[in-house]
Amino acid sequence: MEKYAHIEKEDPEVFGAIVGEEKRQAEGLELIPSENYVSSAVREAMASGLTNKYSEGYPGKRYYGGQEFTDSVENIARDRAKELFHAYAANVQPLGGANANIAAYMALCAPGDTILGMDLSHGGHLTHGHPVTYISKVFNFVRYSMKDVETGEIDYDALLETAKKERPKIILAGFSAYPRTLDWKRLSDIAREVDAYSVADVAHIAGLIAGGAATSPFDYGFDVMTTTTHKTLRGPRGGMILTNGGGDAERAADIAKKVDKAVFPGLQGGPHMHQIAAKAISFKEALQPSFKTYAKNIVENAAAMAEVFKASGARLLTGGTDNHLILADVWSSFGISGAEAETLLDNAGMTLNKNSIANDTRGPMDPSGIRFGTPAMTTRGFGTEASKEVASLMLNVLKNRDEASVAAARARVHELAAAHPIPESFV
Ligand SMILES: *Cc1c(COP(=O)(O)O)cnc(C)c1O
Repeated sequence: MEKYAHIEKEDPEVFGAIVGEEKRQAEGLELIPSENYVSSAVREAMASGLTNKYSEGYPGKRYYGGQEFTDSVENIARDRAKELFHAYAANVQPLGGANANIAAYMALCAPGDTILGMDLSHGGHLTHGHPVTYISKVFNFVRYSMKDVETGEIDYDALLETAKKERPKIILAGFSAYPRTLDWKRLSDIAREVDAYSVADVAHIAGLIAGGAATSPFDYGFDVMTTTTHKTLRGPRGGMILTNGGGDAERAADIAKKVDKAVFPGLQGGPHMHQIAAKAISFKEALQPSFKTYAKNIVENAAAMAEVFKASGARLLTGGTDNHLILADVWSSFGISGAEAETLLDNAGMTLNKNSIANDTRGPMDPSGIRFGTPAMTTRGFGTEASKEVASLMLNVLKNRDEASVAAARARVHELAAAHPIPESFV
């Protein structure tokens, strides 16, 4: 463990926690669909001296001196982000996905304005105005939802009616627990019809979009995309706001200006330049042809796992998946709660999360569903056959729930993990 020699010497307590976590990551299988493994190059940037620098402002317009190299890093990151997502402008300063969303709301709305977003229990995210968030008290969030939870189809007619009635400033599309593709065209058409901005929160699927394995909202007239950089995009923990103005350069320039002001000085302080350097590196990795293969494999592996679950009689929300994640109703399928399933599978070395499902009959702390996905496994080189085996191991544990099944699954998980080491480089 000589790579942390200084931490080991200075601070054995923190050293122990870091080493323990890295061992956990290496030996188990990560099925949480919002997690991934970054390259060593990204990690080196995160540990670089750029963390020492204050760079409030934007390239060429900073509040402090000594910005020769930080300007260069941020310009590289912005240019690569624009190339990757065919965007007119990119703001790479948001510290995470939540900040990116809040800044986008601030850029395009005044306090009290209405934002029309996906029902949280139908796959929307906490930052889309959940009552526990402060931002839900600043803006007026109203909801659209699925018409049919068995197919996942959104009720676009009802959405249009709500939009006409509520006159939102933003139509917000995007999700953290929705396994299907949204009709970006329909959503941006509705936004245009009611004179709202269209914002897609692609935090989960940014890597699929960048790799061509999912459609891009920008190809269907969206104004703005917010995203994390650490989920399928496989960069450092962070956020980003991309602007395209529905393909209209003037509209895009106007929005981009508002976005920049909202991020800084509106919401954040100094940008984390070490994180921005790491973002730039991960964008370069995502621009390689090999990233297209990665994105395609994520989707194929998820489809393979969904097939195994369906063949066993499990109920999957929306009937399957088009992307990287699967939502299974373990309560109605196996008579086990989401929290119990999470714990059992964790004991078997497979990490995932309990999740509420649409029209859940159980409470949020112990819901009916589990959510899992393939981005991290696919980074480790799992193909469809190995993914199917993982699905079978999960099902064995969920059905039998005895110590022997858990132990057997854990032993096989350790073998699979050892056979698929976490890679250090993607280029
Ligand atoms: C993960 C996620 C976020 C929040 O990202 P953080 O980096 O955790 O703040 C926002 N929106 C969606 C849809 C997400 O899935």
